[in-house]
Amino acid sequence: MAGVRIDGLAKRYEAVTAVEGVSLDVRDGEFLVLLGPSGCGKTTTLRMVAGFVAPSAGRVEIGARDVTHEPPYRRNIGLVFQNYALFPHLSVEENVAFGLRRRGVPEAAIRTRVAAALARVKLDGFGARLPRALSGGQQQRVAIARAIVIEPDVLLLDEPLSNLDAQLRHDVRAELRLLQTELGITTIMVTHDQDEAMSVGDRLVVMARGRVQQVGTPADIYRRPRNRFVASFIGRANFFAGRAEAGGFVTASGLRLPAPDLPPGADTLMIRPEAVTLVAQGAEGLPATIETATYLGAGWEVDLRLSTGERLSVVTPAGDRAWQPGQALAARIDPALGVGLHGDV
Ligand code: ATP
Repeated sequence: MAGVRIDGLAKRYEAVTAVEGVSLDVRDGEFLVLLGPSGCGKTTTLRMVAGFVAPSAGRVEIGARDVTHEPPYRRNIGLVFQNYALFPHLSVEENVAFGLRRRGVPEAAIRTRVAAALARVKLDGFGARLPRALSGGQQQRVAIARAIVIEPDVLLLDEPLSNLDAQLRHDVRAELRLLQTELGITTIMVTHDQDEAMSVGDRLVVMARGRVQQVGTPADIYRRPRNRFVASFIGRANFFAGRAEAGGFVTASGLRLPAPDLPPGADTLMIRPEAVTLVAQGAEGLPATIETATYLGAGWEVDLRLSTGERLSVVTPAGDRAWQPGQALAARIDPALGVGLHGDV
């Protein structure tokens, strides 16, 4: 087992800087997720760790060994791609055995290890089938078995769940997390799916425009986003422009919002939709009118217009009340859940 250290990694193509100044310490046994919108550089970063893309600058270390100039097959990594990349003409067993055979592992040991890897991913009894005789979810498991059978130091996953339908993706991500924990293997996964990242990652790395915007646990990133990009990429957010003033925040329109602990010079206040409670008109809170109200079973999504003109999106538990457009009420903001931010990315 081994951690991964990435230091000052960059990849520049002629006209494009795909990745710039990325430094990360992935701890031994950690599940780290690289996350960001299309084109942010997450795949290029993963490919530099794998050895498929040569960095323009920076280093990659796996278990304190500098592998920056090593080819992929000398890095002892397990890889799972979005399209699984199984060999279509080889049986499941032969697909999984491939890496061991190339390493010259004796036949008897290959059989034992392939059987163990297939059992790990709950595919015992599927060894003789061809990949096309398996469902998408099963093919994905074969790809995982093939990656872990070589006992890699690091597992690299490139959008491994994105070819599965929504329900299956939900189940498989829980299985993937469980398997990773059982194996204790250092894992780096790329995804553009925020929910997926939050549900499997010990820590997330949010990227935009080739750079790391924030690294932290899912809760850190959700509750303390460092900038507006991170706040709106992970979860939903309301933003108010203005300035910090004596224990609160004053918006451009003069609205005073409760907000302790604002960083000096904060020019934006971010409020999560669930930080707002709706109370009766006239009660303590900000006077507001409902513009739209959507019932979602577990709760409501309510868009408000404040009497000062700003809009505020709210998510509130269902309870036994029904909310209607045009209804007047008051919105109470939990000051502990407001986050002050500086500018943008
Ligand atoms: P996606 O989710 O769409 O795969 P990504 O976040 O993984 O996106 P990358 O694939 O890492 O992003 O690409 C980052 C940037 O580098 C993009 O602007 C992309 O067009 C550019 N890029 C990637 N590979 C090359 C290449 N071989 N030549 C030129 N530009 C490239």
